[in-house]
Amino acid sequence: KKVADRYLKREILGEGTYGVVYKAIDTKTGQTVAIKKIRLGKQKEGVNFTALREIKLLKEIRDPNIIELIDAFPHKGNLHLVFEFMETDLEAVIRDPNIFLSPGDIKSYFQMTLKGLAVCHKKWVLHRDMKPNNLLIGSNGQLKLADFGLARLFGSPGRKFTHQVFARWYRAPELLFGAKQYGAGVDVWAAGCIFAELLNRRPFLQGDSDIDQLGKIFQKLGTPTHSQWPDLEWLPDFVEYSSQIAQPWRKLCPTASDDALDLLSKMFTYDPRVRISVQQALEHRYFTSVPLPTDPAKLPRPA
Ligand code: ADP
Repeated sequence: KKVADRYLKREILGEGTYGVVYKAIDTKTGQTVAIKKIRLGKQKEGVNFTALREIKLLKEIRDPNIIELIDAFPHKGNLHLVFEFMETDLEAVIRDPNIFLSPGDIKSYFQMTLKGLAVCHKKWVLHRDMKPNNLLIGSNGQLKLADFGLARLFGSPGRKFTHQVFARWYRAPELLFGAKQYGAGVDVWAAGCIFAELLNRRPFLQGDSDIDQLGKIFQKLGTPTHSQWPDLEWLPDFVEYSSQIAQPWRKLCPTASDDALDLLSKMFTYDPRVRISVQQALEHRYFTSVPLPTDPAKLPRPA
């Protein structure tokens, strides 16, 4: 049976933050797609109106580094979002012990991540849930951001404990201190965590609670001083942490080049107003120095 008279359902791909994801065939184009079923729950009426209007905006974004939203429609009380089907994701690449990532490969994957993010930020949309399994990889090696805009539309993922755990590792300090107003810097911090994870092949800051997450950050990067982050003490959940000094970047990411470490340190700037922007990061000399980013079609992917 077809959904919306157009999509032939295949197997379940997985259960995500917002609901089940199916593989399907688009009978109109023959293309394989992934359909994300979003439970609208009790806010059914309210969400529909604003959500559908915003989804229209997401549908209009066409970019090589952003997953295409092909279609969106309500069906049996659920919102269905139809995306292009992607082979794998960056988490699978990072975790695969059979994959060797050269410095050029890392540069290529990270450059595509930032390019996708730059498009979001240019449209004044924050991703808010950047993590390696939201960076999908197509059969041609192109990396594309998934799920952007959804966090704001359907509430922060995190109601489900398992998702909260993973998202926490990428959370910026201003969010952990309860900032209500925040900006593009939260995505930059998360991207920095992903960069470090690509370099080290393991999550960079693995806290097991929000308090512990801040502890893990300070243990590596040192506690922020007043001059580094003057507004910190005004944040809602501010508490004093016993002071620790920053470890050298060379020690935190032993395999990284000097250019990579310079960019990394700028992404992990404490004061979100001073933190490098995505556009500035893309213009950093790391991306123009040798080795150049690997051609996406030649990037290693899981077998
Ligand atoms: P999460 O909320 O944990 O990020 P998602 O809802 O994004 O999870 O996805 C759930 C599952 O569906 C995952 O296994 C993911 O790999 C798969 N998936 C999501 N989007 C796509 C897509 N466009 N193509 C192929 N698989 C996808």
